[in-house]
Amino acid sequence: MTTPTATPVLPVPAVEGACEMCPHALRAHDAISLRFCAATRAAAITRGCVCPA
Ligand SMILES: [Zn+2]
Ligand SMILES: [Zn+2]
Repeated sequence: MTTPTATPVLPVPAVEGACEMCPHALRAHDAISLRFCAATRAAAITRGCVCPA
């Protein structure tokens, strides 16, 4: 029997280091800013970021 996993799958890039869309490190992003930057990249626009850093 397999146990259902409760691990959420977030649409974030599986890379370490700097964010492609803002000057902050990926580790400095919270859930909101990660989604914001991911959406920014998807839309190919420049609109700053909402990082808490
Ligand atoms: Zn970012
Ligand atoms: Zn940022």
